[in-house]
Amino acid sequence: MPELPEVETIRRGLERRLCGARVTRVEIREPRLRRRVDEAALRALVGRRVEAVGRRAKYLLADVGEGLCWLMHLGMSGRLLLVPSGEPPGEHEHVRVEFDRAGSLRYRDPRRFGWMRVARVEELDEIAGLGPEALGAEIGGAALRALLRGTRRDIKAALLDQRVIAGIGNIYANEILFRAGVRPTRRCPRLSGADLDRIARATAAVLGEAVARRGTSFSDYFDSDGLPGTFQDVLAVFDRRGEPCRRCATPIKRRAQGGRSSFYCPCCQR
Ligand SMILES: [Zn+2]
Repeated sequence: MPELPEVETIRRGLERRLCGARVTRVEIREPRLRRRVDEAALRALVGRRVEAVGRRAKYLLADVGEGLCWLMHLGMSGRLLLVPSGEPPGEHEHVRVEFDRAGSLRYRDPRRFGWMRVARVEELDEIAGLGPEALGAEIGGAALRALLRGTRRDIKAALLDQRVIAGIGNIYANEILFRAGVRPTRRCPRLSGADLDRIARATAAVLGEAVARRGTSFSDYFDSDGLPGTFQDVLAVFDRRGEPCRRCATPIKRRAQGGRSSFYCPCCQR
């Protein structure tokens, strides 16, 4: 599933190629995505120019002028691919948007958990309740302490809660907690100020490195140019059960936690 670094990588690719380009045609081949696509609203993109491509958590937000926003979410298996205009539709291709000078943007999604819509920025209820951006400057130790105040949950569940901090998914929550030396099962009230400082620093470091490596690719993530990321080559704990810790050689452990897999080093993480 694409997480923040993958979505940010796609955002950069789209920004580079789409900014200033005008939509010439919209074709909706399958409107039944996670939410049904409002076809008339999406077709109304024709004639509009992409002014900027932003991101909030895992949402891509293309500014198409006059306060209108084209929101895209990739769900579990969605891909946005920029291809030459004449390219025939690929498998599971649900939406295609043609541009005057940037080729054709194709939305492909075998599982159809993603979606897109066009609305006024203030109508985007998807992003209204999100916490501060995980990849933003505002997440420091003190801010994290304030965000976690009153919660009794374990730190991993808190990091995954998009209303607390927006944009952290399972892969990066595991990696952040390894980097910080904190077990995923530690309860928030038991974390010291030093623990929270390390978690805040690790959040910035891990997400920053993952963006620099253009995300993590296992089988299904590719950016808008069809290229995989390389963060999977340096994962410290995620998906490494039984393999030696890169720091101390102790085998990495895996346990189910809140319906997701947690991976940690029993020696480096306390
Ligand atoms: Zn270790």
